[in-house]
Amino acid sequence: MNAQRKTINTPVSISGIGLHSGIYTTVELRPSSPSNGITFVRADLDGLRIPALQASTTALDYATTVGKDDVSVGTVEHLLSAVMACGITDVEVHIDGPEVPIVDGSALPFMHLIDAAGVRDLGTEIPLLRLRQPIEVVDGEKFIRMAPANRLVLKYKIDFSHPVIGRQSYNFDYHHDSFLKKIAPARTFGFVRDVEKMRAAGLARGGSVENCIVLDDEGVMNGPLRFRDEFVRHKILDLLGDLALIGRPIAGEITANRAGHALHSRFVAKVLEAASRAEDGLGEAAPPEPLFA
Ligand SMILES: [Zn+2]
Repeated sequence: MNAQRKTINTPVSISGIGLHSGIYTTVELRPSSPSNGITFVRADLDGLRIPALQASTTALDYATTVGKDDVSVGTVEHLLSAVMACGITDVEVHIDGPEVPIVDGSALPFMHLIDAAGVRDLGTEIPLLRLRQPIEVVDGEKFIRMAPANRLVLKYKIDFSHPVIGRQSYNFDYHHDSFLKKIAPARTFGFVRDVEKMRAAGLARGGSVENCIVLDDEGVMNGPLRFRDEFVRHKILDLLGDLALIGRPIAGEITANRAGHALHSRFVAKVLEAASRAEDGLGEAAPPEPLFA
C-alpha cells in the first residue's frame, strides 16, 4: 500500500515567539522535490539542514527538538502535526532561529498556512509503513501500543488529578478534515505551579495566556476552552507530530495511555527498529512466516 508523495505549491511564512526560548522567529515553508522528506533549514546559520527524523531528535522535555552539530530547532511537533495531517511528505522548513513559533498553541495556524500554500502531488509514491506484529513501549502506567491496521487510528487517554482535566479519552481516525475541525484547534496547556521551575530550566520563557491554556489548581485562568476535552485532543495533535519523525506515512491502530514526547519518541524508535529488523512492515504485508523456522 502506497501513499502519494506531496509538497506545497508555493512558499508561505509565519512569524512568532517560541514557547520555550522566548525567541521570535520566522518560518518559511518551501516546496521540495520528492525524496528530500521533511527538512528543517537554519536560514540564519548558512542553511544548515536538519532532517525531521527520529535520528535527529536531541531533546524531549515538554516539546520535541531536532538538531545536528549543536544546532537545533525546537517545538517542532505542532507544525509537523499539520504537515502530517495534510499528507505532505516533502517540504523544506526554513527558520531563522532555534524554535518554531508557538502562535496560538495549536496547529490551526499551520493548517491555514498550508491551506494558503496549496498542496500538490509530486507524481511518485512512498510505501506506507505497516507492521505485521503488534508492538508496545511501556513506562509504568504509561504505554503506547500499536496493532496492525490498514489505516492510521490514534487513541489517547490521559488522567490528571485536576478538576478541569481528570480522565479524558479520544479516538481519532486520521483524516484531513476531521483533523482540521477536531484536533488542530486544541491548544497546548501548562500549570502555573510548574512555571517557575520550567523557567529556571530555560523553558516556557515565551509562554503566555495568548499561546497556552494556563491552569491554576482550581481551573482554567484564560478560558473559555475550545473543547471540554481540549487537553486529550492536544495530546493526539502532539502524537501525530512526533510520528512525522518516522519519515514516512504510517498505518496502524495506536493506543497511547498517559504518554508524552519522551514515550512518543521511544515508540517511534521501536517502530523503526521493528521495520528494519524484518523488511517486515514496509509496503504490502508479507506472507505469514512459519511459526517454527
Ligand atoms: Zn503540544
